[in-house]
Amino acid sequence: MSVINILDSAVYNMIAAGEVVENPASIVKELVENSIDAGAKNISVSIEDGGIKSICVIDDGEGMDQDDLKRSILPHATSKICAADDLKTISTLGFRGEALSSIASVSEMEIKSKHFLCDIAYGLKVKGGQILDFAPTALSKGTSITISKLFYNTPARYKFLKTSKTEENNVTQTVMDLILSNSNVAFRYYIDKKLALSSPGAGLLEAIKSVYNQNICDNLVETDYTYQKYRVFGYIGKPSSQAIKHNRNYQTLIINGRIIKDFTLSSVIQNAYGDTLMKRSFPVFVLEVVMPFEIVDVNVHPGKKEVRFASGCKINAALYNAVKDTLNKIINQKAQELSFLRHIDSKEINKYDNEKQSLLNKMLDEYANDTVQTNQKQKIDEISSRLNNLSHISPKIVQDKTRLKEENLFIGDMAESYRIDYKIVGQLFDTYILIEYDDNLYLIDQHAAHEKLLYDEYMKKIAYDKPDVQELMIAYLYENKKYAEVLLKHTDTLSKMGFEIEDFGNNIIKITAVPMEFINLDFEIFFDDLGELFQHEIDDISKISEIKELVAKKACRNAIKGGRKLSEDDIKYIMESFFQKGAPLQCPHGRPVTIKLSKTEIEKMFGRIQ
Ligand code: ADP
Ligand code: MG
Repeated sequence: MSVINILDSAVYNMIAAGEVVENPASIVKELVENSIDAGAKNISVSIEDGGIKSICVIDDGEGMDQDDLKRSILPHATSKICAADDLKTISTLGFRGEALSSIASVSEMEIKSKHFLCDIAYGLKVKGGQILDFAPTALSKGTSITISKLFYNTPARYKFLKTSKTEENNVTQTVMDLILSNSNVAFRYYIDKKLALSSPGAGLLEAIKSVYNQNICDNLVETDYTYQKYRVFGYIGKPSSQAIKHNRNYQTLIINGRIIKDFTLSSVIQNAYGDTLMKRSFPVFVLEVVMPFEIVDVNVHPGKKEVRFASGCKINAALYNAVKDTLNKIINQKAQELSFLRHIDSKEINKYDNEKQSLLNKMLDEYANDTVQTNQKQKIDEISSRLNNLSHISPKIVQDKTRLKEENLFIGDMAESYRIDYKIVGQLFDTYILIEYDDNLYLIDQHAAHEKLLYDEYMKKIAYDKPDVQELMIAYLYENKKYAEVLLKHTDTLSKMGFEIEDFGNNIIKITAVPMEFINLDFEIFFDDLGELFQHEIDDISKISEIKELVAKKACRNAIKGGRKLSEDDIKYIMESFFQKGAPLQCPHGRPVTIKLSKTEIEKMFGRIQ
């Protein structure tokens, strides 16, 4: 007895539908791909209730005449291939001729279409694969397909549908993929009658913007790379930018126009990023590979989401090299920009320094030979004004008026003290610098001197303007029940002095920036000190200049206290400034900085003279 039945086409289609028509998303994919194969430039997709209630795809493609319309829902009805050989070079998205027949067999479907060469549009209503109605209809161009009552006759399959929301998300993901892989087609996508996505059909970057956002677009870099017979193009995320994500959801790979989900190929791209990626971070990419059709077999998956590559296929190398090449270009470009800047800077600075130096030398020569002994102040003013005229040489360096003023003050001082001829005798107990000058021995407390210098410089800066601040990479949290409130009262004054603090709640102060010179402060001690100061010594918060002075003293104190052992260069710097600015006799706290012993006093001590 024969047991093999040849299934009739209605039953066969219901089974086949299981392969192509998994869910609303797969239907949307098939319908939109048909529209694209028909040359549509504008496609609208609408779903209701996650596509379970209805799916509608309208296009402006070439359309079908009345015969093709009737044939389109028959199994294995396709206009895209004629013979098996055609499969080897398939370039359309559809070719199996089973989508419409499968969908029609498990739903209610209405197709309206007008072939671009015909005058009349026709409408076809099908239910469970049976034609209910076929008649002329109104449609100006293209094709419109509406599907409702999905799986009404296959309850087992209906049960497998997920919640409307999940189905909706799947459709949305599919539409996004379609937008990205067909960036020259304009899309409008409606969920429950509301426009959810729209893409202008104006190229890949615009498509990416519609699907993701402008911010991601701003952090992408274009790739276009040809490797043998492969061309890889699209956009990839810049390392350490907002186009690096914590999941793989923003990765799209298109091969010959089809979106492909392939873990191996994603890993190849990931590997090309190498060390530029942190652990568990994934670059955004939308990459399209165009390669000879015969190397890639698209007929291995009913939904055509997977492909098989012929042996010897070099797609891995093509992708890897494309990404590497693009990343290298960014890195080189960055390096070049930096070196260019450095070049400019050092060039400008040198130019400025040289000019400044030669002008100074000239001035000093004139000064030395000046038999008439022009008034010194007048001379310094002259130097200052000539230096002012130098500002055009290096706008970057001297653009700041405050700085310019400081520079000139500094140079004015230098001119005054230029002829001071001192000798560093040595260092005592790692604490005092011994200087011989003008028949005197000076013992200088190096820390106190340093502190005084720092204080003077800093006071000068905050008198003109806010000092240069250093933003802290990681904000410092200072917690103190006693002082938080009183410190916060002085937020504005502290900000003018370069200390940026804000209330972090619960008696915690968040310190986000400090003046450049106080980057190494021990914040705990310093803010304790300030708290103490504000609590007891300052009762009137409007006495800004007094407060500034006290804060500056505390800061300098702490800076030097927490400071390093002075190097020889530091000592030189202190002494240069020391003599240029006139010997400070007292540190900001009132302790003496310098003790002077004259030659006479020393000789007396030794009984050489009376
Ligand atoms: P396939 O796409 O594999 O050829 P389908 O079942 O998806 O098979 O479609 C059957 C045929 O119907 C297509 O080959 C095409 O000729 C026609 N067709 C389907 N959708 C459209 C459309 N939107 N515009 C024009 N023709 C269409
Ligand atoms: Mg198709």
